[in-house]
Amino acid sequence: MIEIRDLHQAYTGRGGTVEVLKGIDLTVPEGSITAVVGPSGAGKTTLSHCISLLEKSTRGEILVDGSDLSRLRGRQLRSARRAIGTIFQHSALLRRITVAENVALPLRNLGVVHHEMQDRVAELLDRVGLLHKADSYPGQLSGGQRQRVGIARALALRPRILLSDESTSGLDPDTTAQILALLADLRTDLGLSIILITHEMDVVRNVADQVASLSHGRLAEYGSLP
Ligand code: ADP
Ligand code: ADP
Repeated sequence: MIEIRDLHQAYTGRGGTVEVLKGIDLTVPEGSITAVVGPSGAGKTTLSHCISLLEKSTRGEILVDGSDLSRLRGRQLRSARRAIGTIFQHSALLRRITVAENVALPLRNLGVVHHEMQDRVAELLDRVGLLHKADSYPGQLSGGQRQRVGIARALALRPRILLSDESTSGLDPDTTAQILALLADLRTDLGLSIILITHEMDVVRNVADQVASLSHGRLAEYGSLP
């Protein structure tokens, strides 16, 4: 379970301090799909960066099973980051290496031995239905296939939480529905908690267990879907 408590983020520049997140409280239950929706400028990217620990919040807590990730440093921070897998907008794959090599990157960085890495990459690609594309390059894939590879890469370190940051924006409605169905399957099969951050409310209506609506750095609405 992930609990966000009174999360604040502010940026200080020459024009003074801008508060972008003004006290976010959000509980993402184990095995649930939580959507965070909101218009451009609401603070979605900032919230996403705080959750994936790319940015350090100015105040508040991000608790994963009771321990506060937002205050960790060094080796503990690197290890805590593994609890959260992120799927990025436009998949963010490296174009000069193959699909399999892209999925292997997080494992390579950890120094996993070669044959274990190969087995694991094959298992991950199989899970997203793209084992037959292992030796292709990202440029040879459709947008939806690239997102699947991004999902496989996000799963490489066996995260407990999957964070999707606008990962379906730019995809057509059918492809979007397929990606969301895959995420829902992963939730069921692996017991993952999933956070979907998107500006497209329609996208999440059918798949989310709860929707939090972000507006001007605050959660305006927050409730379970019927
Ligand atoms: P969203 O993803 O919902 O469009 P963002 O989190 O990108 O919203 O941005 C929310 C607000 O924070 C915007 O007004 C934006 O200009 C401001 N902002 C984001 N990042 C920074 C930064 N590094 N420095 C200053 N202001 C920022
Ligand atoms: P087991 O406990 O027998 O490994 P699981 O259902 O936990 O069974 O896992 C089935 C497969 O899914 C395993 O190969 C495991 O490596 C993989 N797996 C489990 N959890 C995750 C996760 N969070 N991310 C990616 N792969 C996972």
